[in-house]
Amino acid sequence: MDQPWLPYARATLADEDTQALASVIASEWVGPGPEVERFEAEFAARIGVQFAVAMSSGTAALHAAAHAVGVGAGDHVIVPTLTFCSTANVILFQGASPLLADVDAETLCLDPDDVASRITPETRAIVPVHYGGHPCDMDALCAIARERGIAVIEDATHAPGARYRDCAVGTLGDVACFSFHPAKHLTTGEGGIATTNDPQIAKRLQTFRNHGISADAQQRDHADAYSYEMVELGLNYRMSGLSAALGRAQLARLDAFLERRRELVHRLTKGLSGIVGVGLPVVRPDVEPAWHLFWIRTQERDELYHLLRNRGLGVNVHYRPVHQQPYYRARFGDRDGAFPNAEAAFRELLTLPLFPGMSDADADRVIHEVRNAVQITRAGSTGPALPLEVASCRASS
Ligand SMILES: *Cc1c(COP(=O)(O)O)cnc(C)c1O
Repeated sequence: MDQPWLPYARATLADEDTQALASVIASEWVGPGPEVERFEAEFAARIGVQFAVAMSSGTAALHAAAHAVGVGAGDHVIVPTLTFCSTANVILFQGASPLLADVDAETLCLDPDDVASRITPETRAIVPVHYGGHPCDMDALCAIARERGIAVIEDATHAPGARYRDCAVGTLGDVACFSFHPAKHLTTGEGGIATTNDPQIAKRLQTFRNHGISADAQQRDHADAYSYEMVELGLNYRMSGLSAALGRAQLARLDAFLERRRELVHRLTKGLSGIVGVGLPVVRPDVEPAWHLFWIRTQERDELYHLLRNRGLGVNVHYRPVHQQPYYRARFGDRDGAFPNAEAAFRELLTLPLFPGMSDADADRVIHEVRNAVQITRAGSTGPALPLEVASCRASS
């Protein structure tokens, strides 16, 4: 293979990032401290929320958020089954049950009708995942939550900068969680952040990430600094100053990253539209996605997966539904067939390379290789040959 490997995601790292790390090292604030506070203030301002609480990962942020809205033993929390397992795992760590729900067949976001049908008196919260960067139908989901007095935790790990009806993702529920894993829009190596406009929730997030030690008690006892009060159960989910410095340098380029993702999606969509039997991402009219993932859907997914990886494209599948993970099968039983939209998506989805550092030529290579792979697959199949192109009137739909 003479062409370089093109992964499905890659962090965008530049000299600004190196300089930011060098200056935080020079300042000696490599642990918790002012650099983390600056990152939190800048992230809150960018999203348009009052509070942002930085964490050691997106998973830590989700765990802290579940705690902060009061999820505990015996509670049920509605989570889409088409998500990274972390969304459901943190609910189990709180002693609660993730109540899995199906996704919308087109957007692959949590389906409000399915959510409504699964709510019980034990339901304490709903966790919409903005799949691939496309915001969920938050009006419908928040209406359900309000009616029953339950919390909404946005899993916004795919969607920093996305907008829903003129509102920023991250401001739409009671609390929202973002990830800074290198595959996501912004990276801090590992890291995450939770956003909220509720001062009570912000305080619980801060306490939970610091072993359950009350910040109030720390301030009260300032003269007596060796004493601290642990007022509830917590963990060390703090972000380091090193990570925060990287985060600040990355955040300054978020808008440029989002713009480049949009350009690439436009190019990929144009180049891949009109292939019979290959579906492309749907965008609802009232949203502006953040484009974490660019996915296609095809019944020839497995063939395409192998052909494209052999051609140097790091295509991937997001996600095996949570209920089909071995751990969840063993613990909760075989529920195949219970979530038809997510199961169909898992059979057909293929994530193509998309990251801001991709050139137009990289995108054209993806288009060429996908078209080629479809042709090879169909030439080798014994069934009736499908035409590659459809009439141009449908090509851009
Ligand atoms: C990445 C991701 C997470 C977890 O984020 P980490 O920072 O890797 O812990 C949670 N949910 C979804 C949907 C994700 O894609």
